[in-house]
Amino acid sequence: MAEVMSEETLIVCDGLVKIFKTEDVEVMALQGLDMEIKRGELMSVIGKSGSGKSTLMNIIGGLEKPSAGKIITNGKNLSEMTEKEMVTYRKKTVGFVWQKSERNLFKYLTALENIEAAMNFSGKSKKEKRSKALELLEMVGMSHKKDSYPTKMSGGEQQRIAIAVAIANEPDILLADEPTGAVDTKTSNRIQDLFRKLNKELGITIIIVTHDMKLAAKVDRVVMISDGKISTEKIMKQEYREKIDSLTDAELVEDAHEEFSVLDKAGRVQLSDEMLESAGIDTNKVKVTVEDGKVIITAENS
Ligand code: ADP
Ligand code: MG
Repeated sequence: MAEVMSEETLIVCDGLVKIFKTEDVEVMALQGLDMEIKRGELMSVIGKSGSGKSTLMNIIGGLEKPSAGKIITNGKNLSEMTEKEMVTYRKKTVGFVWQKSERNLFKYLTALENIEAAMNFSGKSKKEKRSKALELLEMVGMSHKKDSYPTKMSGGEQQRIAIAVAIANEPDILLADEPTGAVDTKTSNRIQDLFRKLNKELGITIIIVTHDMKLAAKVDRVVMISDGKISTEKIMKQEYREKIDSLTDAELVEDAHEEFSVLDKAGRVQLSDEMLESAGIDTNKVKVTVEDGKVIITAENS
C-alpha cells in the first residue's frame, strides 16, 4: 500500500441517531452525530462512559444499524447495502481491536494461527497466508512469540497480535475500542506508537476510542463525544505534526492541539462542563450577544 495522505473523504456520519429499547426504557445513544473522516486519518474519540463511543464504532463497523441518519463509507451508504455486501464490508473494509483479548483472539490458537485464521475467507492459499502472517508478526514486533498462545502473553502482547489480526485482510479502516483499557501506561504508549506507525506506513485510517487523554493527544485529531454528539475537536497544529516523535507527553498534552467547538447544521454549539464552570454558568439560560464580530455567552445573572 502506498504512503498516502489524501484529502479524500472516507467516512461520513450524517445526523446519526441510535436508540436502544430495553423493556420500558429507551436510551438515545447517538443524538444526531455529524462527523467526517478523511482517508488516512489517525484520530481518537474520547468521552465519558456512556456517551456513545462504542455505539459509533459499531455503526461505522457495520455491527449496528443507525435508527436514523446516514453512514457512508467509500461513497456507499451502509443502510442501502444488502446483507451479503454487509458481510463483505465487515470482513474486508473494517478491522476491529477490542479492549478484551477474548474478543480479539482464539485462546486455543497460537499467535501465528490466529492471524492465519483471520485470512480464512480471503481466498489466499495456505502458503500465502503463512507468509502474510509472518510479515504481520514482524510489523507488530511479535515475531518472537509466533508460536505462543494468548494466555502465555502479556496484555500488551495480546493487543499487538489483535492488531495484526485486525489488519490481516488489509482493511481501509481500523477501529479500536479502548484497546489499551486493560494495560499499564508504558505498554499503552507503545501500542499507541504502533498505531502511528501502521497509519504512516500502510496509510490505513485508524479510529481509536480511549479514556486516556495522553494517548489521545498523540494523534492528528481528537473528537470529544458527549451525550451522543461531537462537542469539541482538537486538531494537531502543523508544526507539532512534523516533530511529534521528539516531543514529550507533557508537551503533546499541553499545547500541540488547537481546540474547536463543533457548530451543527441547526446552529447549535455544545459547551463542555469545564467551559461552563470556568465561565460561572450554572443555570439553563444564558445571554448570547454579538460584539465586534464575536459571539459572547454570559451567565443569566451576571
Ligand atoms: P460508551 O462506549 O461511550 O461508554 P456506549 O456507546 O456503549 O457508550 O453506550 C451509550 C449509551 O447507550 C449508554 O447509555 C448505554 O447504556 C446504551 N447502550 C449501549 N448499547 C446498548 C444496548 N445494546 N442496549 C441498550 N442500551 C445500550
Ligand atoms: Mg464503550
